[in-house]
Amino acid sequence: MAYDFDLYVIGAGSGGVRAARFAAGFGAKVAVAESRYLGGTCVNVGCVPKKLLVYGAHFAEDFEQASGFGWSLDEAQFDWPTLIANKDREINRLNGIYRNLLVNSGVTLHEGHAKIVDPHQVEINGERFTARNILIATGGWPQIPEIPGHEHAISSNQAFFLKELPKRVLVVGGGYIAVEFAGIFHGLGAETTLLYRGELFLRGFDGSVRKHLQEELTKRGMDLQFNADIERIDKQADGSLKVTLKDGRQLEADCVFYATGRRPMLDNLGLENTGVKLDKKGFVEVDELYQTAEPSILALGDVIGRVQLTPVALAEGMAVARRLFKPEQYRAVDYKMIPTAVFSLPNIGTVGLTEEEAREAGHDVQIFESRFRPMKLTLTECQERTLMKLVVDAKTDKVLGCHMVGPEAGEIVQGLAIALKAGATKRDFDETIGVHPTAAEEFVTMRTPVAG
Ligand code: FAD
Ligand code: NDP
Repeated sequence: MAYDFDLYVIGAGSGGVRAARFAAGFGAKVAVAESRYLGGTCVNVGCVPKKLLVYGAHFAEDFEQASGFGWSLDEAQFDWPTLIANKDREINRLNGIYRNLLVNSGVTLHEGHAKIVDPHQVEINGERFTARNILIATGGWPQIPEIPGHEHAISSNQAFFLKELPKRVLVVGGGYIAVEFAGIFHGLGAETTLLYRGELFLRGFDGSVRKHLQEELTKRGMDLQFNADIERIDKQADGSLKVTLKDGRQLEADCVFYATGRRPMLDNLGLENTGVKLDKKGFVEVDELYQTAEPSILALGDVIGRVQLTPVALAEGMAVARRLFKPEQYRAVDYKMIPTAVFSLPNIGTVGLTEEEAREAGHDVQIFESRFRPMKLTLTECQERTLMKLVVDAKTDKVLGCHMVGPEAGEIVQGLAIALKAGATKRDFDETIGVHPTAAEEFVTMRTPVAG
């Protein structure tokens, strides 16, 4: 049977665009459907606008520290609408770039909501198209628990478009988004509370990193409330929000921001017309080749719920395009040693195993750790300290993990990730000449283990 398209991609986000462009480049006839915004979550309500707001928030420290270097400034003023308008302009520009990328690579773009009507057919804007393969790349959506008053809370989707900076913000959650947005609001001058249901935020990150960030945020005056959870939210006559915690305490805020994880975006997608199965958490179940239980349908990115990061969705998109249309170039995505950064203030950068994971996996570990005041701060009042940590296998000398909390941790850890992926040993680190004077050189000068 002749199909309208070789590949019909649903979702023009990180993974969908990458798969579509490369598939078209390999000679396939490809269409992409997008219902909201070109570039998906990352470009519109994720990585990119988030990083721009983090840059914005960081200026508060820069202004404060400048006086130590002889600069004097009149009191700095911040205007939220200007930041948001400039951010929006940049995102519009990126949307245009994504449109050109798709069109110039020969991909047909359909703007609207796509629904799968059978394993080889998609309906969009009242029209039906057939395809040999359909790729579900529909991403995720913020998930807010349905407590009484949850409708008064916002998620990251709305936070990027607030008309004004709230005076008092309560951020709920202890993952990437909660920690990053708490830093943004706090840095820009809002009275910020971060409320997390467990003992310590950032579950799954190295214990030293979690503790160090807790200390740094506390030093900066952020209100951290752990072992705390919200029972209900009530809107008061003056528009402010009264938040009642499960332990009976009450807090007041002008904005309650939930960052409690993301669900797969499967709304009205028509999966009931296919044999696609979901896993226990409700994400689309795929095998190692991104194949769903329906032979003609594949899925990748956040909707499969493996690792919800843009570079991972990009790698999966590439793998799918190659597998379908250039099998001789197919290489499986390697999920080990994925570096990641949390753009909190200060940043976290991490790659490889945490100390806890290494011990649990039975490694005989050696820990190298350094905490220091960055040189840039020595002329200032700022007491921020940087943490660097190496987790090493004592038997093989292999570096199993690198962790950092401090300025530019994400930038620094990208290079270290290449070393770890190449199997670097502690001796390789020791024999690498440092770049002086930098903070990063500390990673090659730690000589004495703090724990074994
Ligand atoms: P998405 O990028 O979500 O794209 C899915 C697309 O499908 C969307 O455009 C959606 O509109 C469209 N769609 C859905 N259903 C349909 C339908 N039925 N018909 C047509 N179109 C449809 N990752 C990082 O690596 N670094 C970061 O700093 C980072 N920061 C983040 C900050 C925030 C606030 C958030 C929310 C996420 C962040 N992420 C970050 C995660 C990253 O954004 C995602 O992992 C990535 O976007 C996933 O790509 P994807 O292609 O799977 O889905
Ligand atoms: P995460 O999964 O990272 O964190 C969710 C947090 O919410 C956890 O602390 C979790 O607690 C808590 N939580 C979950 N359910 C509830 C509930 N019902 N009540 C109270 N707390 C709850 O999700 P995020 O929303 O922060 O981000 C989604 C994903 O997007 C991230 O995992 C990451 O992959 C990606 N992302 C990446 C970024 C980056 O690369 N810099 C930045 C932002 C997002 P507990 O730990 O106890 O389960």
